[in-house]
Amino acid sequence: MTPVEERLKRRIALTGPISVADYMAACVGDPDGYYARQEPFGASGDFVTAPEISQMFGEIVGAWLLDRWRADGAPDGIDLVELGPGRGTLMADILRVVRRDPRFIAASRVVLVESSQRLRKRQAETIGGLHPRLSFADRPPRERPLYLVANEFFDALPIRQFVRQDSRWFERTVGVEGDRLLFGLSPFPAPVTGEAPDGAVREVCAMGEAIARDIAETLTTHGKGAALIVDYGYADAIGGETLQAVHRHDHAEVLDRPGEVDLSAHVDFGALGRAAARGGAKAHGPVGQGAFLVALGLVERAGQLGTGASTETQDEIRAAVNRLAGVGPGEMGDLFKAMALTVTADIPPGFAPG
Ligand code: SAH
Repeated sequence: MTPVEERLKRRIALTGPISVADYMAACVGDPDGYYARQEPFGASGDFVTAPEISQMFGEIVGAWLLDRWRADGAPDGIDLVELGPGRGTLMADILRVVRRDPRFIAASRVVLVESSQRLRKRQAETIGGLHPRLSFADRPPRERPLYLVANEFFDALPIRQFVRQDSRWFERTVGVEGDRLLFGLSPFPAPVTGEAPDGAVREVCAMGEAIARDIAETLTTHGKGAALIVDYGYADAIGGETLQAVHRHDHAEVLDRPGEVDLSAHVDFGALGRAAARGGAKAHGPVGQGAFLVALGLVERAGQLGTGASTETQDEIRAAVNRLAGVGPGEMGDLFKAMALTVTADIPPGFAPG
């Protein structure tokens, strides 16, 4: 039994079944939880993220953030923020690009929003030498204009699940029977609206919506800044269940080995956009990650990197382009989406209609 499983069972035995959101939060956030203990990233881990596939991803995000800062008139006293930086690869690639404009470095602090102490150490090692002011936080900072990126962050946040039964919604719970964790339903109808056939499942990521709104309010307060959210998910809630467990690149059971498997859910970009609108910001997109990267010059950058390189390197670069921007099975171009939050009138690069 994993330490997280032991604690969960004791807790449920003492105080009763918990929500799916509390279960996810315990698996991810526990001192012995997923990001605290596992090394999830890369070929030997559980999953591979875009910045780990190629430096081109972070370079393009860096160019996008630098462009937004310049479009705002290159303000002083800003925060360059990343939510859930993992190994720190994305921020390192961003900094290598924005460092070409020393004014940006002089104007900025880097703030990493990270809950895992183990990963904070890792990130400090990767990023420390690339910027003179680096700090960590539990929430996006609000005091200064934000230039923010979040890649595969929102999918890791706890979701609640509601199940339709007898024309009402009931929250799904996690309980214990004998020695086994199992799903159940709260006996009390949940204050969730909307029609659906019996058996339908709805997912709500209240924490994601709260964070999107928080970011939007900071953009609104300062009248400038931008946020770029990249994740796998859908533009409009299609309904249905997307909570999934992954272990070593393979499907696993959600209630199996809590704290040792990666739990995530598709991001409801529509809900994030509406939450941001309530905070006064405009949401652009979501557009496919592939379309976004290609509009921002992925193919040209690949050509530059490949020029004069060995055939083997050129093949790797081509494979990375296909993986990041392709729309076939196992490729990220369509499944992953990008959404921008801004407060000014112009449309950010990569989000122009048509
Ligand atoms: N962005 C990285 C890593 C994605 S994994 C990449 O693209 O490779 C998710 C990251 O979010 C991890 O760093 C994890 O520790 C962090 N995280 C998860 N939930 C969090 C929370 N509630 N607050 C802060 N960080 C969180």
